[in-house]
Amino acid sequence: MKLNEIKLTNPYLELPRECYTRVEPTPLENVFLIHANEAVASLLGIDIEELYSDAFLDFVNGALALEGSDPFAMCYAGHQFGHFVPRLGDGRAINIGTLNHLHLQLKGAGQTRYSRSGDGRAVLRSSIREYLMSEAIHGLGIESTRALALIGSEHKVYREVWETGAIVLRVSPSWIRFGTFEYFAHKKRYKELEALADYAIAESYPHLADAPDKYLHFFTAVAGKTARLMAEWQAVGFNHGVMNTDNMSIAGLTLDYGPFAFLDDYDLQYICNHTDQHGRYSFGNQPNIGKWNLQALMHALSPIVQREKLESALEGYADLYHHHYLELMRKKLGLDALKEEKDLELVRQLLRMMQELQPDYTLFFRTLSRYDGERSSLLKLGLYHQPMHAWLERYDERLKENRSTLQERHRAMLRTNPKFVLKNYMLQEAIEAAQKGDFSVVDALFRIAQDPYAEHPQHERWAGPTPDAFKNQKLSCSS
Ligand code: AMP
Ligand code: MG
Repeated sequence: MKLNEIKLTNPYLELPRECYTRVEPTPLENVFLIHANEAVASLLGIDIEELYSDAFLDFVNGALALEGSDPFAMCYAGHQFGHFVPRLGDGRAINIGTLNHLHLQLKGAGQTRYSRSGDGRAVLRSSIREYLMSEAIHGLGIESTRALALIGSEHKVYREVWETGAIVLRVSPSWIRFGTFEYFAHKKRYKELEALADYAIAESYPHLADAPDKYLHFFTAVAGKTARLMAEWQAVGFNHGVMNTDNMSIAGLTLDYGPFAFLDDYDLQYICNHTDQHGRYSFGNQPNIGKWNLQALMHALSPIVQREKLESALEGYADLYHHHYLELMRKKLGLDALKEEKDLELVRQLLRMMQELQPDYTLFFRTLSRYDGERSSLLKLGLYHQPMHAWLERYDERLKENRSTLQERHRAMLRTNPKFVLKNYMLQEAIEAAQKGDFSVVDALFRIAQDPYAEHPQHERWAGPTPDAFKNQKLSCSS
């Protein structure tokens, strides 16, 4: 499809007026394309050549409205670091229409009614991070919002210093947040709350549309999706950093990329967000926060579903989480032939050993994916040998009960344990090059993000441990 053949729809605008505000994007000055995502263009049915046209650049800049576009910002509330904020909303994201069930949104395209004191902009640095990381999470098989394009500009934006503005054209099957429900619950607008629940069901859980007790089943489904997402983040070593309820997707997607990080060295206590002094959103605390956030959602839904029923639905969360997590870890370890108790113990011991040795998380599993009894490459990853030896003894024992051959296990593990994750020092390299007008690192990281299990021999240096100077750093929220 050519750009001028596209017809956008706006299903969200059928919701009550309180759910959104119409707003026109404010384009950036002197824009240029940094990257376009051809895979997402295909999902949308947009011709690849169109991505490199002037019209496309105008489109991403909010300067060219496609047929049917009726731009708006969504209203929501949320718990930020545990404190309720009654009104947040899209302060710098403008929805520009829906195509093939994907909702298009320009992040950084100017102020909206919900901007508060913000300028409605996103700087290049944070936009590169979101653009690459959403693709990386998707590439790892974890549900995420994605992006169609990233543009830069000469538009000056002030943070702690002068920077330049950028826009990411984000796409998602849903932009509804836990906080969207909290907004209407807090205002006691129960009609709107129901309308929103019906909308979210139709959008993300259509099989529940005619179920008796559909709102209860909806909550149960969201809890299930959240448990799965948390298990996936833990298994891959992803620290989101700002798990406020306004950044929690009702569809169980990874949403709103800010000061996130992939683990360098394994550490449950790792905190990627500089402003998170007490570690509320530390790596190890994410599954608990998932539940805390579901409790906030439960509270918001209690005007339309019996409280006791919601509570018993939430009781299932911990078991679901542990079930998913164990399954993912068994896969990472190449274990087949279910040995539930034994495997649980093996994973517990693994985590204890990792917490003690703190090896590079990604490199450990990738190295283990070629383990054939020869231990030197694994032993090198930790300072002491004894804990690794002790765990490998148990692992060797357990492998005797596996059905697959060594080759089969290696092949499966190499498809499960990525060679690359986009660590912050790699993203920083892409940012610094881009700030000088060189987008080749963005391009290289994008390719890695799309296929993190492939060898990419030209990028071998990114497969090693993080250089000491860049390890386990914290990032600021200012973006
Ligand atoms: P975040 O921490 O990025 O999820 O943002 C929290 C809230 O602040 C959301 O409502 C954002 O839309 C809003 N916000 C963040 N940065 C800006 C900005 N530069 N201008 C306007 N609103 C912003
Ligand atoms: Mg947010």
